[in-house]
Amino acid sequence: MIQFHGRGASAGIASGPVYVYQRGGGGTAASPDTRDPAGEWERFLRARAAAAAWLEKTRDTVLKQHGGEAAMLFDAYILLAWDADLTQRVESGIREKQMMAETAVREAARQYVALLSETDDLYMQARSADVREVCGRILAALAGRTSAPIRPPQPSILWAEELFPGEAAGLDPDIILGVILAGDSVTDHTSILLRAKGIPAVIRTGRVPVPGYSGREALIDGGRGEVVIAPDGETCRRMLSEREAEKTVRLALEQYRGLENVTKDGKRISVYCNISSPDEVGEVLSYEGDGIGLFRSEFLYLGRQDYPSEELQFEAFRRVLTDMRGKRVVIRTADLGGDKQEEYLSIPAGKGPAGELRGLRLCLERPEMFRTQLRALFRASVYGELGIMFPMVTSVSEVREAKALCAEVKKELGREGKPFREDTAVGIMIEHPEAVLISDQLAGEADFFSFGTNDLIRSAEDGSGIPGHPEVLRLLKLACGYARRGGISTEICGELAADPAYTAVLLAMGIDAFSVPPRDVLRIRRRIRETDISEVRERMRQIPD
Ligand code: PEP
Ligand code: MG
Repeated sequence: MIQFHGRGASAGIASGPVYVYQRGGGGTAASPDTRDPAGEWERFLRARAAAAAWLEKTRDTVLKQHGGEAAMLFDAYILLAWDADLTQRVESGIREKQMMAETAVREAARQYVALLSETDDLYMQARSADVREVCGRILAALAGRTSAPIRPPQPSILWAEELFPGEAAGLDPDIILGVILAGDSVTDHTSILLRAKGIPAVIRTGRVPVPGYSGREALIDGGRGEVVIAPDGETCRRMLSEREAEKTVRLALEQYRGLENVTKDGKRISVYCNISSPDEVGEVLSYEGDGIGLFRSEFLYLGRQDYPSEELQFEAFRRVLTDMRGKRVVIRTADLGGDKQEEYLSIPAGKGPAGELRGLRLCLERPEMFRTQLRALFRASVYGELGIMFPMVTSVSEVREAKALCAEVKKELGREGKPFREDTAVGIMIEHPEAVLISDQLAGEADFFSFGTNDLIRSAEDGSGIPGHPEVLRLLKLACGYARRGGISTEICGELAADPAYTAVLLAMGIDAFSVPPRDVLRIRRRIRETDISEVRERMRQIPD
């Protein structure tokens, strides 16, 4: 028996024979050089077109099956396949250095990756994975291989060094029972796709696949990040009984369908969903979300080469509001900056979360960009129950400035005879410690607070390492108190909202609504229904004011 650990990237327990996957090198040319540059250039162009067509087809399938967030990466791949700089490097390899197309593609990819890894920018560094995926596709096409999905002869646990999102997208959960990766996955999108497909996965194991283990039984626990190959009877029994327990939990959650989100002592709580694309509305409705508590509108700005137009944004917002059929939809204005960058945005790097030009401050520095988005939002407001929310707020003056711009936009629309809803709610994300400190004043400026615990945890000095995030709970308690005194409602949309371990304590603080990934609605509904708020309030005493 060999046993190792990694990071659990997709929860669930899987068992089956190991299938070792080693990606082909994309075909080897007999010689690295050519005497026919024109012919090689033609081969490259044909291979690139085939690779791009495969990427487009995969993007459409992923979009249909798993929604916009998972599909978005493929748009970036398609752009990269046609990237002028990459093409020019291949062309110079073929025409000037007389390389075979394969050699020129490999060399261009190597140069491009080296260039990207020289930057300090983590986002740019991550893009080197995209280059490797796209060039891998072109090499496969040059070798005359169609990018067939990975398909072992029997249902198996796939063990690979790494897995590109393009490969993950093609996995059939009936055949690929689980995934073990030696590496750091290639991007988070691989993990997103594995989770979307419900394939348990353990990544970053540091264990390179050993072909000799092909066919040996394996057990993996994608929640705990545990891998056992050739397990002994005792380990087998333990992990399989955990799998049964997990299945039972999932089945038990089904019983909560159609029930209200109401606590034992009768408080009705809203459980909304977080989305990043209008394509995810179907999932929200199927998991019975009460609405959308966070639509991350910045994704409309990503994977593009220029700002999205007012019309494009209006259509996206209108679609979400219409599809949600009158249920509440909170759209967050663009939270760009940090790791959400695009070349055309040219966002200057700042030091630390406070110095970073991000969220609302970035929008206020680019009034035309902001005005365009606000126009799209207010125009869409007549199609449902819209709330607009500002991200990364750090001062009262920012909120006042943003509201003044909203007022101007409404006046402008009025003059143009374009309808909008005057009573559109305006909320503030509390996701920065500075915002908590001034939350008494902020409560006077907003219709609701929504707590962004992801950023709060990030900026709490040593927060991420402390179980229970006591300092973050303390911040939430403080801001909840001010919200209550200011007569406004409180919501939570950070990941903490989806962790059932925190539901009771958040309810006791007075949180009115949770916004979670669609698949977590029933889990949180169950915890809400199990909670008696007055009973839990006792626990609040443990959190100092
Ligand atoms: C948060 O910070 O908790 C949040 C919801 O915002 P994001 O994860 O988009 O930064
Ligand atoms: Mg945030």
